[in-house]
Amino acid sequence: MFEKIFIEEHLAAHPKVIELKERFPASEFKYITKVEDVFGRVKKPYLQKRTNLNLFIGEKKGQLVKPAPPAYGLSGEPHYYFVHAYNCIYECNYCYLQGYFQSPDIVLFLNHDEIGAEIKKLADDFAITNPGEKIWFHAGEYSDSLALTHLTGELPYYFNLFKNLPNAYLELRTKSVNIKELVKLTPSENIVVSFSLAPDHRTRTNDLKTPGLKARLAAIRELHELGFPIGIHFDPIIYDDKIEESYSDLINQLALALPPEAIKYISIGVVRFTKNVYHQVLKNYPDSDFLADDFVKSFDNKIRYNKPTRMWVLGKVKNLLIEEGVDAALIYECMEDDDSQ
Ligand code: SF4
Repeated sequence: MFEKIFIEEHLAAHPKVIELKERFPASEFKYITKVEDVFGRVKKPYLQKRTNLNLFIGEKKGQLVKPAPPAYGLSGEPHYYFVHAYNCIYECNYCYLQGYFQSPDIVLFLNHDEIGAEIKKLADDFAITNPGEKIWFHAGEYSDSLALTHLTGELPYYFNLFKNLPNAYLELRTKSVNIKELVKLTPSENIVVSFSLAPDHRTRTNDLKTPGLKARLAAIRELHELGFPIGIHFDPIIYDDKIEESYSDLINQLALALPPEAIKYISIGVVRFTKNVYHQVLKNYPDSDFLADDFVKSFDNKIRYNKPTRMWVLGKVKNLLIEEGVDAALIYECMEDDDSQ
């Protein structure tokens, strides 16, 4: 799976490194001082991830937990994200990671205890200043939260942390069905597994290398039946002439796996790109059907559909969800702004 595995030398005796050596005997192991000395130093084309993927193991430095961008989660509560990995084994053709790092190689950080200490401090301080209110922490901003958990093994640590932080919520955001580590754990009301979903034809065309819609719905059903709280993301929504029919089908299928009243929250958002990511998509996936759409540069300099189209798409999908029985208060528009253009 990984041609080379680069390890920060001070982690050479770490149990995770010893485990990786046993798991990947054919990989070449190299020791480095810091991940940043090698990762992304020379631009590596994004699509090389198909044939040559390296792994980096290190410790995350700097600010480990950051405020999330506006409209990241249900409004009215503060949202933060934390970073314990860079990059993803999947290849969604709209993914912003293709324009974010200089390399598609996977980076895994092992200092979960330091990340957890920052989360705990923020949650404890928040409990003092805002008694009775909730604070959110999101994993998976630069990676998929479940795809590699059989390798990374951090889930028990975060479950234990959040079970002792009753004012804090954890969101694990994923397109993966790699739930075997998750199902070994006891669900907790404040730990939400959230799945990004799209209609079947969109999943096949755009979410390259990911598990298909049926498999994701089966994982949702299994986790729901085991008692895990589930969130849903319809994001990014890509416009096409069968959008109403395909989202209606998707919502019907979702309701069979997860009763509408059991959904913790659902985000809806249309496809959008920074200028840099848009150019990468043009380069990497020039035949993508959505590139033929009329995009505009909008309020936050991101490239997206014009406002009437965005409002029409979001309104349609929201109405379909409400008709299926989803509580309107639990639907939020992701990265949209009421005054946006
Ligand atoms: S699953 Fe998420 S992080 Fe991974 S390629 Fe797709 S959009 Fe990117």
